[in-house]
Amino acid sequence: MYEKIKILDCLLAIIYQESVSIAIKTHKKALVRQMFSVDLKKMFTRNFYFFTSTKLALPMKKIIWVACMLASLSTSAQKKKSVSTPLENDKQAIISNLDHRFDEYAGISKQIWNFAELGYLEEKSSVLLQEQLKKEGFTVETGIAGIPTAFVATYGTGKPVVGILGEYDALPGLAQEATPEMKPIAGQRGGHGCGHNLFGTASVAAAVEVKNWLQKTGKSGTVKIFGCPAEEGGSGKVYMVREGYFNDVDVVLHWHPSSANAADASTSLANINAKFRFKGIAAHAAASPERGRSALDGVEAMNYMVNMMREHIPQDTRIHYVITKGGEAPNVVPAYAEVYYYARHKDRAILQSIWKRIENAAQGAAQGTGTKVEWEVLGGVYNLLPNVTLAKVVHANLSKVGGVVYNETEKQFAEKIADTFGEQKQPVTNAAQIKNWQDASENATSGGSTDVGDVSWVVPTVGLGTATWVPGTSAHSWQSTATSGMSIGQKGMIVAAKTLATTALDLYSDPSIIEQARVEWQNKRGANFSYEALLGNRKPALDYRK
Ligand SMILES: [Zn+2]
Repeated sequence: MYEKIKILDCLLAIIYQESVSIAIKTHKKALVRQMFSVDLKKMFTRNFYFFTSTKLALPMKKIIWVACMLASLSTSAQKKKSVSTPLENDKQAIISNLDHRFDEYAGISKQIWNFAELGYLEEKSSVLLQEQLKKEGFTVETGIAGIPTAFVATYGTGKPVVGILGEYDALPGLAQEATPEMKPIAGQRGGHGCGHNLFGTASVAAAVEVKNWLQKTGKSGTVKIFGCPAEEGGSGKVYMVREGYFNDVDVVLHWHPSSANAADASTSLANINAKFRFKGIAAHAAASPERGRSALDGVEAMNYMVNMMREHIPQDTRIHYVITKGGEAPNVVPAYAEVYYYARHKDRAILQSIWKRIENAAQGAAQGTGTKVEWEVLGGVYNLLPNVTLAKVVHANLSKVGGVVYNETEKQFAEKIADTFGEQKQPVTNAAQIKNWQDASENATSGGSTDVGDVSWVVPTVGLGTATWVPGTSAHSWQSTATSGMSIGQKGMIVAAKTLATTALDLYSDPSIIEQARVEWQNKRGANFSYEALLGNRKPALDYRK
């Protein structure tokens, strides 16, 4: 008897698997995902009961069982289709509308990609997005927080206030054609290696959809889109936070170009960066070196000490530098030298203590080399404060929207890019997938830093990444610049716009989400938290890329 039951179990397991795979082949993905999670299991139990309680011959039972399963599936599918709520319909309408407007937004993102303007110099990019928002009926306030290329565009009245962040600065040294092989653009300083051309455009696209929905439904609520310059090292948002631009906002949404589609509650690294400027005494390097004091020696001594320090700091710290000025000619003792430092850690307090030691190293280096040193903190950002409540809502919407599906041309483009990754190569079809939700992701840290971190400590904030880049691509690379300027990046951008807009609809429609997110945010922030910018009281470093 026991043996028989075991065989029966095996058979049932096989049939169950078969039914699922038939279902996957014959039904739409999202629908199957829903059925798979709940209904199929219910059906299985129900049909299993029939299977074990009747006295028919086994082959007959098998046929009837499969028929029952398929019949249940089809009824369930019809039921799923017919229970769509007005909110679901509105979300679907937004998704269709963004597909409809694909070319328009792809065009805007391509223009910004071509402008490739560096931090605080994003004049044309900022105006282009502002014009789009004005055309759509937003009120635009520009030049906010002392930054000419920053803006906030508002539509609607009353609560809740949902903010959406948009970025548009490029990176120096990453000018690259939109080709699957490395092809720098001669004479161009910057390139969109972080895909911020897509970031700004998708956020505007989402805000426009939200505005149309608020208009159509007459619901109470405000949408604000923040045009945030100089994310790459300029800490643009920090000044906007410091000036209180987020004080009346209930939830902030953002996204970032990526090589995968994911919404989770991971954090980022807090970051402080500064330029250390050494001054020495110029002299003939051969005829009278004893009269000179080399500023470059100061830089090198500092670097040496910091590099030794690496052994004696928490190992998840990141410190990197570039020598931005090192003298002009070997036969002149350099009177001036400059080194540009970044230090990062996920814990702000640890970062601040390490930063103090870096400053001490600079002073020690100056003393030892007979030079003088001064430094200017150019940027400083908080670690992201993750919000699980909000991240789950985003994940649900992203899962409904789905990932990036390549056409044949895009697939070939992607394959060529993927071939340049060597051992890091991944299947390009991963771009179509959504990463599973993991509660554990709350403790994960992305290697990067973002000034969204500061925003997340003054208002509950949530974001996502979409596969604007070929799976396996590193940010800040020629590969990420290339796909940010063509349809792969643009498709990923539309996935982001759809997810942001549909998430905003959830927030306006269900106030309990915002309440719950706020409680979580307050608990994580701690009762005694008061915001203090890591870059102190300095004014925006508007010339840091000049
Ligand atoms: Zn970025």
